[in-house]
Amino acid sequence: MSTLFISDLHLSGERPDIVKLFLDFMSVRAPRSDALYILGDLFEVWLGDDFIPPDAQAVVDALKKYAESGRSLFVMHGNRDFLMGGRFAGLTGCRLLPDPSIIDLYGTKTLIGHGDLLCTDDVAYMRFRQQVRNPQWQQAFLAKPVAERIALAKEAREESKKQTGSLTQDIMDANQHTVEQVMLEHGVTQMIHGHTHRPSIHKFVLDNRERTRIVLGDWYEQGSVLECGKQGCQLQSLPVDSGTGT
Ligand code: MN
Repeated sequence: MSTLFISDLHLSGERPDIVKLFLDFMSVRAPRSDALYILGDLFEVWLGDDFIPPDAQAVVDALKKYAESGRSLFVMHGNRDFLMGGRFAGLTGCRLLPDPSIIDLYGTKTLIGHGDLLCTDDVAYMRFRQQVRNPQWQQAFLAKPVAERIALAKEAREESKKQTGSLTQDIMDANQHTVEQVMLEHGVTQMIHGHTHRPSIHKFVLDNRERTRIVLGDWYEQGSVLECGKQGCQLQSLPVDSGTGT
């Protein structure tokens, strides 16, 4: 049996093919695992638990089925769906994890996170993040009518597209110094995150110990899954047409 990690699916009604890929994954692949970690940006946008878009209902149901089968389901916020709250957790049976979290992955102490906290070169984003993760800001946002929240999210998305368009690729990647600091601070040799959409397994030596940073891929052109077991971890991709993987 195994533990699966996914992130950056960015599910939305605009990509029914990716929603189907995820639902196939949940019915074929996920049942062969003991635990599933979704490390942020499951949804393209989440405007509050009181507004579940029609196309998100099947996703919620699939998660619930997984959790109800006795498997462990963990969900972390991404930079797009950080307003998932207690009602979402209740509906899906997931446990919402703080970012970062430390887990014991088959004997290896591992730090898991969405990954945006590692992109410290993007100063403007870090400032934006601080604003929208403030409980008072969130309370005020969630108190607005749904239509207004939809309009505000659209505005924010267009603004961020304008800004990220002018950023260099390096600024939007994890900062290696920050990665090393975080690993030392938490005393881990392994880290798993998404967000940067650059799937890879990086190995490096720090403080005389080999460290591993695993980056999950996004679900734009294909699915991306990290499967971990006693023998180690493997990054795999799922073709859009079948969704069952290799
Ligand atoms: Mn992200």
